[in-house]
Amino acid sequence: MAKTVGVIGGGQLARMMIPAALELGVDIRVLAEAEGMSASIAASAVGDYRDLDTVLAFARTVDVITFDHEHVPQPVLRALVDAGIPVHPGPDALLYAQDKLLMRAKLSELGLPVPDWAAVETPAQLADFLADHGDRAVAKTARGGYDGKGVRVISTPHDVDDWFTALAEDGNGGALLVEELVDFRRELAQQVARRPSGEIVAWPVVETVQRDGICAEVVAPATNSAGHVAEVSEDIAVRIADGLGVTGMLAVELFETTDDRVLVNELAMRPHNSGHWSIDGSTTSQFEQHLRAVLDLPLGATGTLQPWAMMLNVLGGPDGATMVDRYEKAMSEHPTAKFHSYDKVSRPGRKVGHVTVCGDDLDEVAYQARGAAAFFQD
Ligand code: ADP
Repeated sequence: MAKTVGVIGGGQLARMMIPAALELGVDIRVLAEAEGMSASIAASAVGDYRDLDTVLAFARTVDVITFDHEHVPQPVLRALVDAGIPVHPGPDALLYAQDKLLMRAKLSELGLPVPDWAAVETPAQLADFLADHGDRAVAKTARGGYDGKGVRVISTPHDVDDWFTALAEDGNGGALLVEELVDFRRELAQQVARRPSGEIVAWPVVETVQRDGICAEVVAPATNSAGHVAEVSEDIAVRIADGLGVTGMLAVELFETTDDRVLVNELAMRPHNSGHWSIDGSTTSQFEQHLRAVLDLPLGATGTLQPWAMMLNVLGGPDGATMVDRYEKAMSEHPTAKFHSYDKVSRPGRKVGHVTVCGDDLDEVAYQARGAAAFFQD
């Protein structure tokens, strides 16, 4: 059995794989972008994930390669595969998490429910789409967006003049993605894990609340999701995992529309913010499951340990205080809260940790979770 997992990227997702690897007795090594990153404690190398020689040298020290993020370039991924190194998820799947236009096209081809969309190369094409959609739409850059960067609600092509200019300067004949502005009741996320040999397991669908394009709160399971919503969400994620050949964790961000449809927004092929609750709230956390899946081990049960879990992100504030600096009061007042610090330099708006509370009464869970997280917000 392959037993040393190599993770490219040293952020908090790699960090949270470390305790799971320790418990399983699996070696984990991280290729970090710089010294002092969130997952540095397991960093066996520091270097640029875009540089083939750096990545290949790291990959030769492990049995399987996986990721903290989706940004490793395709030629680097394909060179690893050509060198005989197992890569999970593989480049053919990861492509659809790297490029939102390819993702929309592939999901449409698979017959999965997505918002109305188009690839637009010119302001005139964008104007046509806006005219057909009541002069409101959402424009997105195909690559490189995260936490709401690269996403704009627009009413005229001029709202993305800068993006068209950047495309023209790039000279690669790229396009922007434009989508209908979805009238959603709430946002959901469905996580599944898939082994290379095909086994798939699904967690309960969760509700995510975004503020300023950043995930703020997650409730697991989503309220009022038993039955139809849960079935549809799971079916969508399983079809995507199978259809794209995803190996490891897959998170599918979903919109529940005001007319009761479930549409796919985004894909992430790695542990995801919407699954952090599973560390404290599920039999198998997404981090343990990701390791099991990329090692092609049997997958663990995904049920909840308590009826409800609520996770709140902690963002950095202006004063640079860390979560650890403020533990004293938060811990004494909220003993049921579980605190997770990412050991990152605190900057405004940066995700520096999260808090999870589990229990059998959702109002009480929310009261405790929000109360505990409030100690870390300015
Ligand atoms: P990112 O890659 O930055 O996570 P997303 O594509 O997930 O970007 O979009 C960020 C947020 O913008 C979503 O969580 C949602 O709140 C909103 N959003 C994205 N696409 C649409 C859409 N078509 N209609 C309405 N809101 C949208």
